[in-house]
Amino acid sequence: MLKPEIARLEHHLRALVGERNPLTSLDQLHRCGRYIEASLQDSGLRMEREEVPFNGTLSHNILGFKAGSDPSRGTFVLAAHYDSVQGTPGADDNASAVAALLETARCLEPVRLGATLLFASFTLEEYGFVGCRHFLAGAHRRKDRFRGMVSMEMIGFRNGEPGSQSFPPYVDASRYPDRGNFLAAVGNEPSRALTESLAQGMQTAHPRLPVHTLIVPGRGDAFTEVRLSDHSPFWEVGVPAVMLTDTAFFRNPHYHQPTDTLETLDLEFLQDGTRAMAGFLERHLT
Ligand SMILES: [Zn+2]
Repeated sequence: MLKPEIARLEHHLRALVGERNPLTSLDQLHRCGRYIEASLQDSGLRMEREEVPFNGTLSHNILGFKAGSDPSRGTFVLAAHYDSVQGTPGADDNASAVAALLETARCLEPVRLGATLLFASFTLEEYGFVGCRHFLAGAHRRKDRFRGMVSMEMIGFRNGEPGSQSFPPYVDASRYPDRGNFLAAVGNEPSRALTESLAQGMQTAHPRLPVHTLIVPGRGDAFTEVRLSDHSPFWEVGVPAVMLTDTAFFRNPHYHQPTDTLETLDLEFLQDGTRAMAGFLERHLT
């Protein structure tokens, strides 16, 4: 496995940061889609572009496949949405995760996997997971089999100050640090095994980065805040899926604001997360 490089992450971020909204900045959304496609292709992936219609617009899911040696093991999905809400440059949400996705693909290029790994950059997450739902509808028709999914959702913001981390009311905050220096792996009950193996696998691959888990009861239907990413439609179809996140508005005051800029991101934190993710995937899918 190659090591992720801050310079490459920053290069991706400079290309991606800026409003990417289907209704107000469709050209920029398209441009970023092409950038993601070219980068994943450079990492040796077989690319597919899926057209997603929405309110008179067309944008695309960008899908890059790294074929495994054993098709019977099904496909694992690593996802990061690339659209943004209107009025924000969307650096943490979600250019951070897209940059990590692209760099993870490069790091794994020399690695041969047993299971197939799909790098998916979905469009239209911010409108209710429209791109991801479109993808799953097609997968259902094709009878694709998924062994698991991780949605990276805002992974570039860190705050080491005491008291910088908050939590939803149903979470026992005493189990977690009060400073925002960790990544959270969030799963529902059916995804418990994957959530734990993701957190452990990331910690083994890169012990310096703390990763904490949160398992919400049942299918997680009653917990709105933990459903806010593309893992949610996977939960609905019964595929184990985990959201990996810096916890968004529980830490980052720039969430969905014009101030969600590149300058607020912590690129070392993003590099740590990328390295831990690539290490987890290498072990989990070999
Ligand atoms: Zn997002």
